[in-house]
Amino acid sequence: MGRRRILAGGIAQESHSFNPVPTGRERFNIQSGAAAIAGARGSNSLLGGILDAAAEADVEVIVPTLFRAQSGGPVEDAVFAEMRDILCDAARRGDFDAIVLPLHGGMLTPTLHDPEGALMTALRAITGPDLPMTAAFDLHAHVTPEILDTCDLLAGYLTNPHGDQGATGRRATRAALDILSGRLRPVLSAVHVPMLTLGNDRTDEEPLQGLQARARAAVESGAAYDVSIFNAQQFLDVPGLGQWVLAYGNGRDAAPDALALDLAQSLWDQRRALIGTYPSLDSCLDRAEQGTPRPLILGDQGDRVAGGGPGDSTHVLRALLARPKLPPSVVPLTDPEAVRACHAAGQGARVTLTVGGRHSTVAPPLEVTGEVLGLGTEAHITYDGPADAGYKARLGAYALLGLGNVQVLLTDQPYSYLDPDYFRAMGVDPARMGVVVTRSGYHFTLNFAATGECITVDTPGMTSYRVQELPFTVARPFFPLDEMDFAPALHAHRSRAG
Ligand SMILES: [Zn+2]
Repeated sequence: MGRRRILAGGIAQESHSFNPVPTGRERFNIQSGAAAIAGARGSNSLLGGILDAAAEADVEVIVPTLFRAQSGGPVEDAVFAEMRDILCDAARRGDFDAIVLPLHGGMLTPTLHDPEGALMTALRAITGPDLPMTAAFDLHAHVTPEILDTCDLLAGYLTNPHGDQGATGRRATRAALDILSGRLRPVLSAVHVPMLTLGNDRTDEEPLQGLQARARAAVESGAAYDVSIFNAQQFLDVPGLGQWVLAYGNGRDAAPDALALDLAQSLWDQRRALIGTYPSLDSCLDRAEQGTPRPLILGDQGDRVAGGGPGDSTHVLRALLARPKLPPSVVPLTDPEAVRACHAAGQGARVTLTVGGRHSTVAPPLEVTGEVLGLGTEAHITYDGPADAGYKARLGAYALLGLGNVQVLLTDQPYSYLDPDYFRAMGVDPARMGVVVTRSGYHFTLNFAATGECITVDTPGMTSYRVQELPFTVARPFFPLDEMDFAPALHAHRSRAG
């Protein structure tokens, strides 16, 4: 028998139902074959973990394609279809033993509320029911019955902020190989909880820390083969939005029903505690004016590109400009027109232009006058990590605009600024600033910990956790928008061990 092979590939993007800017092909980092493998090997990414686990088992990995983009509006249908067709063509060639899908799980297209489920169904139609197929998802995935019925095991990140991308890829790969070798017959106990976590949902703090510890103890004791607790992306107006607890046992009589029901009940019981509060922007800027030993790295909670926001809210910029005593500060804004205007004016030019606020629902465009300090048509970044350490991405056109003590980093695409290298690649050293604004709520706190003091700030906007301000319809009822009775119940699904 020849060397075993795993087919790995897919698409990863987190969508926001209320972001009107579609995510097009130009926003994706698309890699395939040897280039995808070389790019991911050794990195703390899902594919990096898949490659590690496969190498240890002397299994070859083939990557027909991998599409990755930052969060944003729904992904254009044609982009999803292109990726799906490449994977399905590869599946039809059939020269592999298992499929492991590195996906996000929280994506939308204009016509699909569960594209990941649609991808799995399309692959299953080609492979038949017996080929092992597993998937690795972000903790903020929207899990659906179609996904649970179609893949043999779904592993989600266990950490928020996310630091276990590689480990999650390894879990999904190990499961596929264990099924292949006959060591694993997964049986799933799955429970859906109709609620959102809204801000107090770090896994290194209570209440999620305790829940994750119970899940981990069950796996370590052998009571379960794998457990994931999914805290759904909050801005998906889709049927069945909410939390999922997935506990997999090994063998027909081994379903960890009691564990799944218990964790789900605990999530519900803690629903009020999972709603967080943040310091105000004013309190943070008061401190910055006094001078802080390290830069203040502020997460603009209301317009997090990491949560699918447009990244063009001027709310923080307005506040920075109102305080001339602040130390040097930098705030990023998505604004393709302003980038073009700066490029047309040229380096060193003095310009008056309107920036930001084109899509943000709370902070209108702002007219500013300043100097073009830097320009570029592309930039290349490599994440410092620890999250996604080593991940490489190409950024598009940008301009750095100086407004006295405040610098505005204008880009033609939205970015999350999860890692300091975003700023360095575009000419700003975040370690030398007094205030640095990122478009992330949590994840930046891992990769900026060495740069400064990380604070998530209570700001308004499309990704604010004030979900009562958003026009949810399809996803309702869910807590906290709706008060309801709830008792955890096991979800019925197809079982391989049946
Ligand atoms: Zn996430």
